[in-house]
Amino acid sequence: MTRILHRSTRQSYPIAVGGDGPYIIAQDGQRYLDASGGAAVSCLGHSRRDVIEAVQAQLDRLPYAHTAFFSNQPSEELAEHLTSRAPEGLEHVYFVSGGSEANETALKLARQAAVERGESQRTQIVARHQSYHGNTLGALGASGNPGRRALYGPLLADNVHFIDPCYAYRYQEAGESDLDYALRAADQLETKLQELGPETVLAFIAEPVVGATLGAVPAVEGYLKRIREICDRHGVTLILDEVMSGMGRTGTLYACRQDGVAPDLLTCAKGLGAGYQPVGAVLMSNAIYDAIANGSGAFQHGFTYIGHPTACAGALAVQRAIERDDLLANVIGQGDKLRADLTAHFGKHPHVGDIRGRGLFVGMELVADRATKAPFDPAEKLHARIKSAAFARGLVCYPNGGTADGTRGDHVLLAPPYILEDSHREELVEKLEAALADALGQVSG
Ligand code: PLP
Repeated sequence: MTRILHRSTRQSYPIAVGGDGPYIIAQDGQRYLDASGGAAVSCLGHSRRDVIEAVQAQLDRLPYAHTAFFSNQPSEELAEHLTSRAPEGLEHVYFVSGGSEANETALKLARQAAVERGESQRTQIVARHQSYHGNTLGALGASGNPGRRALYGPLLADNVHFIDPCYAYRYQEAGESDLDYALRAADQLETKLQELGPETVLAFIAEPVVGATLGAVPAVEGYLKRIREICDRHGVTLILDEVMSGMGRTGTLYACRQDGVAPDLLTCAKGLGAGYQPVGAVLMSNAIYDAIANGSGAFQHGFTYIGHPTACAGALAVQRAIERDDLLANVIGQGDKLRADLTAHFGKHPHVGDIRGRGLFVGMELVADRATKAPFDPAEKLHARIKSAAFARGLVCYPNGGTADGTRGDHVLLAPPYILEDSHREELVEKLEAALADALGQVSG
């Protein structure tokens, strides 16, 4: 009998005991091709000796020192590594232990900087429907994810307002150009700010490529630039959540580089430590840093494990490995091939509505009817069936459910490691095809 409250108390979970590149090995010897990196975490696969040795070396030197008293070398070097490659102006960083903490921290940084600038009336946040920024109450409050919010609604802050995501497959109108759609979608922010009173709005938060909730939906070209202009016009802090999409997942270290936009705050986690260590970061603009440095001089926030030396040493080794092995070139090359393979296999499939993504961040949306884009009845739990059918074949992918109101269909998120080779990709597509056929067979009776 397990003593752990697992994700589901109705299911048993194989014990994972080993890793071999992109594979996880269970106690019974079964090998699983990890095609989603868990949830877009394990970007180097599961057995990088260089990262493991860097973590071990830091444990030998010094596992931990509290930041109320000390800084440490790995966090100083990691800060230098991340900021020297970041979009313009993001020259400072704050280290945490994961994505939810990173977004909580970003919201608090935005608030404190506004107060230090004398703008304490800025208390409202604008976020987007179909988004996920974390499970702590602040980050969940800013997440447009009805499923995750439902139970905790009464505990969530009521200062968050939502606009639609930039989601071309569902919201772009027939005959509308990409740019017209991008601008129309972004202008929802302007409308919302006018409704709320722009001087009362603190921040806008969005994922440049929507991960878990929608399945790798990238912003259409021009969207984020317009969002940046709107935020600048009204003094609203732009927070980009790159917890999933950052650290090379889309082919550039920071996803927003491809949109030509620099936010005021950028959060990352997952691929930062690649699962070798739990670690996240908030990159901040000089303006935010200066507001605090020239004001009270102390950020009113903190966790026990901020700037954890071993976590930062692991992350630094991960980031150096990505660069040393030129892995982003492989992300782009294998990502293109993966989308091409999926299009070849599923492009005309009656229940595959959309194949999308950037780099090795790829999604496939499933629909009951391709012509109307009507999703499957969520009660069918198609996504859960795909997950189990794939897992039974030794494939880990990350499906998520659709909504009854038709605002999204079931989808499968793929986020394989940057070390992906042709043979892994072929195995992935072959197993996914079989899993999909199996799951769809169960749904249609
Ligand atoms: N933000 C995004 C975009 C995410 O996808 C996630 C997790 O899936 C989070 C934040 C929360 O990160 P964590 O689970 O590390 O707290």
